Amino acid sequence: MVAKEKQLQNINWDKLTFSITPTRSMYEAHCEIDGEWDEGKLVSYGNVSMSPAAGVLNYGQGIFEGMKAYRSAKNRVVLFRPEKNALRAATSAERVCIPPVPKKMFIDACKQIVRDNIDYVPPRGKGSLYLRPVIWGTGPVLGVAPAPSYTFLVYVSPVGPYFKSGVKCLNLRITNQFHRAAPKGTGGHKVIGNYAASLFPRKLVKKAGFDDAIYVNAANEKFIEELGSANLFAIKDNVLMTPSLDGSILPGITRDSVLIIARDLLHMEVRERSIEIKDFLCADEVFCSGTAVVVTPVGKITTNNAATTINKNKIGPITEKIRKLLLDIQREEIEDPFGWIHPIN
Ligand SMILES: *Cc1c(COP(=O)(O)O)cnc(C)c1O
Repeated sequence: MVAKEKQLQNINWDKLTFSITPTRSMYEAHCEIDGEWDEGKLVSYGNVSMSPAAGVLNYGQGIFEGMKAYRSAKNRVVLFRPEKNALRAATSAERVCIPPVPKKMFIDACKQIVRDNIDYVPPRGKGSLYLRPVIWGTGPVLGVAPAPSYTFLVYVSPVGPYFKSGVKCLNLRITNQFHRAAPKGTGGHKVIGNYAASLFPRKLVKKAGFDDAIYVNAANEKFIEELGSANLFAIKDNVLMTPSLDGSILPGITRDSVLIIARDLLHMEVRERSIEIKDFLCADEVFCSGTAVVVTPVGKITTNNAATTINKNKIGPITEKIRKLLLDIQREEIEDPFGWIHPIN
């Protein structure tokens, strides 16, 4: 426990955005390259110190996760499917030669850090406490090689809801000027370098007036993949489609939850498969999914040649149903049929 006299500053819960607000503490654990992770502990939130030759600083040897803790209708603070984040962190870590953090340790760290910063969890409806687990190569390396030692950190920040006043449809640009992920590359993992590479493409499409870029597959640029940090779905004739996890798509936990909700609760046909750009553009409804955006409709899609409006630039009826079911389960407004909710106690 970090001293509680480190007071909660005056946070205006109505003014929260998706940005960093310092909190009381962060969780920290260490590991040597062939060793075991130490027990880990809570330390005061603040700057971290490491060698200028740290693997993460020089060669991007790092991975991250993103999750939320929030107050549910049952008046408790909960996490949503943290075991999935734990598993994904482990597979991402292995891809860049980072010793994986055991699942139980990962989840315990997340629960501990939320408990210690519980007063930073916004009131119901005002947002959530965003958790950012990271695992970095922090030991010094000069040649390109795995770092000799590693740090697992979890820091948290209260954030506002993605949409302050009702859901808005996104205006997206399909780009083939840049690729997000190469076949057999790192696109299927939350490795930090992927995100540095997405900054410039995103900046260009934003400057042109779009909300974000839709990436296409690198091999032949025929199929849609996803956004820089959210998965994509299309609905046509009551069938829900999303690109299959072939290595270049990030296995979103929201994506997985949407597929399960559509199949098991809405009894829809769901298909994970390649989606051609031309089929995507004539979908009845399009939406994207992610921890931050939850389920957000897409109203307009622009290619190099033309702009297409989807469902009159309004949220579609099926998108609305899926969004509501997911939010209702997450907020414990309805019984959680899948065991997805982990209360912090
Ligand atoms: C994190 C991320 C997502 C969404 O994953 P969730 O687990 O649903 O938050 C989708 N695409 C990319 C590229 C991502 O980095």
